[in-house]
Amino acid sequence: MKPIVAIVGRPNVGKSTLFNRLLGHRRAIVDDLPGVTRDRNYATITRFDKPFILIDTGGFEPVTEDRLLQQMREQSRLAMEEADVIIFMMDARSGLTPADIEVATMLRRVKKPIFYVVNKVDGEKLENESAEFYSLGIERLHTISAEHNRGIIDLMEELLDVF
Ligand code: GDP
Ligand code: MG
Repeated sequence: MKPIVAIVGRPNVGKSTLFNRLLGHRRAIVDDLPGVTRDRNYATITRFDKPFILIDTGGFEPVTEDRLLQQMREQSRLAMEEADVIIFMMDARSGLTPADIEVATMLRRVKKPIFYVVNKVDGEKLENESAEFYSLGIERLHTISAEHNRGIIDLMEELLDVF
């Protein structure tokens, strides 16, 4: 059985961009509109001779505050059940949000490896600012830029280490 890795997080944090980045070619729909991924995308990825299944979770628009939380609970629940490893993605540009805190609280109960990833860390300034995410009480934070290919190899290496 190939291990399953699920990417969860608020709409528009860059989940599909990371999914595509790890896939190596464009597959999932990436759009400037939040929540544009209509379905869950699955792909088998092989890195360093280790195959795993990657799930890109998404949702539907319109995303009201209520709908957002409902969607994220559902997303997190599915990931908790299905995945062996969870990538919880947040966004350095928007900073830590109440929805992020809610999901982090849910994930705390999960006895599976969780990678806390802050995306859109395109430069040094955002790198420094992303220290605020440590207030989630986490030990390790991965700062990446899915779009500009920063921190992806390090994340991949640590991810493959847990399989
Ligand atoms: P999703 O809703 O979480 O799947 O997010 P998407 O992957 O669709 O990305 C949402 C938006 O964020 C798009 O406009 C992306 O181009 C943008 N984005 C994704 N990754 C990065 C990044 O590393 N840096 C910046 N600046 N923008 C990004
Ligand atoms: Mg998406």
